[in-house]
Amino acid sequence: MKKYIIFILIVALAISFVLGLYLYKLNKINEEIAFEAEYQRIESQNVIKEAENILKETSSIDNKTSPNTKIIEKIYYNDCEHLVQTEKKITESLINKNESEFQIEYMGWEIQKFTPSEVVVYKEVYDFCNEHFLLKEVEGEIVIYALDKYDNEREIIRETGIQTKYLSELDIDNLKEGIKVYGKKNLNSIIEDFE
Ligand SMILES: [Zn+2]
Repeated sequence: MKKYIIFILIVALAISFVLGLYLYKLNKINEEIAFEAEYQRIESQNVIKEAENILKETSSIDNKTSPNTKIIEKIYYNDCEHLVQTEKKITESLINKNESEFQIEYMGWEIQKFTPSEVVVYKEVYDFCNEHFLLKEVEGEIVIYALDKYDNEREIIRETGIQTKYLSELDIDNLKEGIKVYGKKNLNSIIEDFE
C-alpha cells in the first residue's frame, strides 16, 4: 500500500512538472507575440508619420503660386483633334494659392502639374480650335484668313503686306489656291519664309 501511494505521488509530481513547464512555455510564447505586435504597431506608426511629413513638405506649406508662376493652359479640341497650349501670366486672384485653392479658381480644369514655378492645367472641349489658317494672295499681297470647322474662310485676321510678285511661280500658284496652315508657330515660320 505504501509503495502504491509513493508511486501515485511520483506520477502526480511528474504530471505537475510537465504541466508547469507547458504553462511556462505558453506564457513565454504569448509574451513574445505581444512584444512582436507592439513592435509592429510602433513600426507602422513610424511609417505613417514619415508619410505625413512627406505630404506636408510637398503640399500646402511651400507649394504655392507666386507672382512668377507660369500658367500653361492646354485645351484639347475634339472636333479637330488639336491640342492648343497657351502660356498665361498669372492673375492677381491666383497668386499665393495652394493646389486645392487654385483648383477652385480653375473649375472644370484638370491640374496636371503644380509647382511654384509652373502650373499646367488641361481640359477637353467639343469644339474646333481657332488655329486653322489660310494664306492667300489678294490683290498681289499675302493675306491671312481664319478658317472655320468646314474650312470656310471666316475672316481676314492679318494683311501681311508681303507682295507676291517677288516670290517663285510655284509659291504664287499655291497662294492663289490658298495654303492651309495649322498652328500659330507654323503660321509665323511660313510667313518668315515668304518675307
Ligand atoms: Zn484645330
